[in-house]
This record gives sequence, C-alpha cells and structure tokens, in this order.
Amino acid sequence: MTSIHSVTSDEYPDPTNNPINSHENQPDKPEEACGVFGIYAPGENVAKLTYFGLYALQHRGQESAGIATFEGTQVHLHKDMGLVSQVFNETILDQLPGSLAVGHTRYSTTGSSRKVNAQPAVLETRLGSLALAHNGNLVNTVQLRQELLEKKYNLVTTTDSEMIAFAIAEAINAGADWLEGSIQAFHRCEGAFSLVIGTPNGVMGVRDTNGIRPLVIGTLAGNPVRYVLASETCGLDIIGAEYLRDVEPGELVWITEEGLASYHWSQQPQRKLCIFEMIYFARPDSIMHNESLYSYRMRLGHQLAKESCVDADIVFGVPDSGIPAAIGFSQASGVAYAEGLIKNRYVGRTFIQPTQTMRESGIRMKLNPLKDVLAGKRVIIVDDSIVRGTTSRKLVKTLREAGAVEVHMRISSPPVTHPCFYGIDTDSQDQLIAATKSVAEIAKQLEVDSLAYLSWEGMLEATREDTNSFCSACFTGDYPVAIPEQVKRSKLSLEKVVV
Ligand code: SF4
Repeated sequence: MTSIHSVTSDEYPDPTNNPINSHENQPDKPEEACGVFGIYAPGENVAKLTYFGLYALQHRGQESAGIATFEGTQVHLHKDMGLVSQVFNETILDQLPGSLAVGHTRYSTTGSSRKVNAQPAVLETRLGSLALAHNGNLVNTVQLRQELLEKKYNLVTTTDSEMIAFAIAEAINAGADWLEGSIQAFHRCEGAFSLVIGTPNGVMGVRDTNGIRPLVIGTLAGNPVRYVLASETCGLDIIGAEYLRDVEPGELVWITEEGLASYHWSQQPQRKLCIFEMIYFARPDSIMHNESLYSYRMRLGHQLAKESCVDADIVFGVPDSGIPAAIGFSQASGVAYAEGLIKNRYVGRTFIQPTQTMRESGIRMKLNPLKDVLAGKRVIIVDDSIVRGTTSRKLVKTLREAGAVEVHMRISSPPVTHPCFYGIDTDSQDQLIAATKSVAEIAKQLEVDSLAYLSWEGMLEATREDTNSFCSACFTGDYPVAIPEQVKRSKLSLEKVVV
C-alpha cells in the first residue's frame, strides 16, 4: 500500500505562469534537470539520509522534491513543490520508515512544473511497487507515449520518467522479474537517463548507454553492504559515505541484502558524459574523473588565459560558477585576482514578484558590484558560459556604473550554438546568442571592450581524458544520440529540417 501526503497542486501556482519566471526573467544560464539519490541501509534512518543527500544535490533542481521509502512491501511516499528544506521536516521524515529509499529533486525539462510531475514516480506492478527517480531526458517520448497509450496505460503525468516506470511495469506484468523487466524497458528508451529505482527487493542504479548524466556509488562508512547512489559525490560526502565508483554507461547495479551485483545491459556502451556537468552544472566539490571540478574549472581558466589574455588591472569571476576559472586565469596570466561582485546567496526561485522598479534593476537582486574595487580599473570578468546574453549585458552595464573603465569578458567554454535534448534546459536555438551572432557581434551587443571564448579543443584537453568521451553537442551540434525530427523541430529552429 502506498501512502501519499497529499497537498493539492492548485495550492501551488505553475511557476511558468508567474511573471518572475517568464522567459525574460529566467536565469540566463542552462538549467540542470534533476538530482537523484538512493540508499540501501537496513537499520539506518534512510529517509533522513536521503533528505541530506538531496539537500547536497539541491543545485540540480529547485522546483520539487520527493522521497519514497520501502518498508518490506509497503511504500511510503512524500513529494511536493519547493526546495528540499521546504518539502520535508522532522515530522514528515518520521513517517517514512524503511530499509531503502529513493529521492529526487527536480527542475522540469519535460512536463510542466506541477506537483503531479514531482518524483519519485510510484507504480504498482505484479511484483509490488516501484519508485523511480530520473535525471536526463528521453528523446523518443512521442513514440513511447504512443505505444503506452495504445496499450491503455493511464499516464497521469506529462513526464518521460513516468513512461520509463510504465515500460518497466509492463514488462514485469507480462512475466519478467525486476531485472529482466527493467532491462527490457531500458532497450525501449533513447536519450539520457540516470535512474535510481526502489523496489521491495532492493535498489537499482542505472545509466543510459552513453552515460550522459552522472551517477555514482558509495558505501556508508565502515559497512560495505550499505550502499548509496547519488548524482554527484557531494551527495555521498554529506552523509559520510565513501565514493566507490561511477555507475558505468550501460550498467545496472542491483543492490539487495546479498550486496551489489552489476549487469551490463547495453551491448554498445560508450562514454559521453555531458561536458557541461564538468564546466558548470555539477558542484565544484564533486569528483569527476578522479579530481574535483574546482580543479578542472581552474584549469579551464589557465587555458583561457593562455588563449586570450589582455592587459588589465584585475580579474574576477561571476559568482559562483565563474570563480574557479577566474582564479586559474589570474594564476596563468599574472593579472591580480579580486572580488568585483558579491552574490546574495539567498535569492532562489520565488513565487513572489518583485516590484517593477526592482525588476528594472534586474541583476542587482543577485549580484552587487564592489564599487571601491572596480572604480577606475580595467577589469576582466570570467563567466562559464553565455546563453542568451541578457544577463551578461546587464552585468557589464552594472560594472561600468560602478566605475570600471574597461570591461573585458572571458568565457571558460566555447560559444553555445545548439540546444540540449538530454535533460538540460538551454532554450531553443533561436534564443542562443552565439547561434546567430559572431563573437564580434556579441561583444558589441554586450557592450564589452573585448570578448573571447575558450576553444573547444582547450575545453576538452583540460579534462585530461580521451576527448571523445564527452558529449559537447551544444557547442558542435554533434549529438551522440540521434534526435528524432519531430523533437529537433521543437528546438532547432535555425536549421532546415528534412522530413
Ligand atoms: S548537448 Fe550540451 S548540455 Fe546537453 S548533454 Fe550534451 S554537452 Fe551536455
């Protein structure tokens, strides 16, 4: 039996209808899709550990959060709109007993931002309930949805994640066991999916055949049979779990009372981790490819300085994500590092609309310039990416008003020219400033004295890995998973699509 603490979704307005969340006011950055977390730890307070894991993964999605725990065959579920700290409290966590748990924090890339689309998605099957948490986006949802609707499945949400859950349930109800049924379903899914799936028997961690979204395995300190799954290692650190390894592309790990078993469900796995995870999305203290992303981002700054240094008095980063690259830039160039902007860390997504005057002041809601640092200075400002350019333009204006005499902008990634179809919200192509304008034209629009991006080669070389082991399609248009024409048309509005 599944217990759901119910709050009607009408109590929560759809944030996409709110002026503050209108296109114009959306953050001018790619938005992360989701964070997932799973734990198998009989005897531990799995709900609370999941809460803290999600808390560490909050940067991956701020619209809704949910936890499902399994107590034998009984599932306890609570999910709602809001931040992890708003959705859960001690009383709610106390009502989520069990020996294993699955958690999710969401930013909507398919399906609107409503409570019904919050995860984990819980379904009944012949073998009991399953609770599924998904990070990524499928690209064949139209076909999959059609197939499921033809079989009279009652899809209650608008998410691709629910379709994966239904595909698993369909296989299980036709006679497969948990593993066979899940693997059959994964073969029907195309695109990006890092999944954590709870069942009465154990927890699964799964990555798609390209491993586009990350997923790591850890063990709870001192007890090798208590396993944790998380989108990033920061989700392990917070509960004192030790990083064991990544779930491999095309791998399924099945964690039960017998320990961890590994299955390679895909015949042709390849490594295509989203390079934007390394550049911007994942937390700088998370480990990917055996080093912190802070170190990688500093190296991007080194490379950027080598490629495009300019005479200036100070260099600083756009907080927070531009800071490691700015420090690297300073180290490699000798230009003094300073803090030119202070971030208000408590501005999040909000349903409260600021006044018109406040909205016009725009950027200062989040970033305030340090006038005494900037006055009379030639400054280099380092950011990790430019998407539409609207925020960058306001930022440059703010710096000049604060007294900067020259503003040189340096970007620690190449121009974003193509949208993402794999779980990152990067706008349609016509909204991407670099898809329609040259670097010189962008510089003019942003009103900077100079602008330079990191080269594609420099970005990949800085990983110190095989440069083929990343997806970098938003910089090249070379998508590792073919995008169906219908899906392409929705975002690639600059390209001629041949049907
Ligand atoms: S298209 Fe860009 S954002 Fe999307 S997965 Fe590839 S690198 Fe990441």
